[in-house]
Amino acid sequence: MTVKSILSTKGDAVTTASTEHSMQDVANTLAAKKIGAIVVTDPAGAILGIVSERDVVRAVARGGPEALKDSVKRHMTEKVVTTTVDKTIVSVMEDMTRGRFRHMPVVSSGRLAGILSIGDIVKHRLEEMEREQSALRDYIHST
Ligand code: AMP
Repeated sequence: MTVKSILSTKGDAVTTASTEHSMQDVANTLAAKKIGAIVVTDPAGAILGIVSERDVVRAVARGGPEALKDSVKRHMTEKVVTTTVDKTIVSVMEDMTRGRFRHMPVVSSGRLAGILSIGDIVKHRLEEMEREQSALRDYIHST
C-alpha cells in the first residue's frame, strides 16, 4: 500500500501558513480546523518548515502567553521530513517513528501534494486489517 492510496480517499488539501503568521494565528487555525500541524511555505509554495500543536505547547511553556505573539518562524521545525506518493505506508510509519513526529507532508514534482497524520495511517491500517481478516474468514469457510 502506498501514500497515494490514502491520498486518493483523503484528498490533497494541506493547511499552510506564511512566516508572517504568529503562533496565535497557528493555534487558532489548528483549533478551528481540528488538525495537528501546519506546513509553513513561501509565496511560491516551497516548504520552509512545519509547526505542530507540540510546538505551540513548547513555546507557551518556555515563554508564557507572550510567546503566542512570536512569528511562526521562531518555533517551526525547519528541517522537514517529507515523503512522496509512491512510498509505502510502512516506510512512512518507520520515518515517523524514527523522527518522533506524527505528520508527514507529501511532495510531488517539488510541490506539496498532501499530508498524512498518524491518525490517517492508523485508520488505513485498521481498514486494511479488517479486509485481510474478512478475506481469511471467506477462505476458511469456502474450504
Ligand atoms: P508532531 O508529533 O507532528 O506534533 O510533531 C512533533 C515535533 O516534530 C514538532 O516539533 C514538529 O514541528 C516536528 N515535526 C512534525 N512533523 C515533522 C516532519 N514531517 N518533519 C520534521 N519535523 C516534524
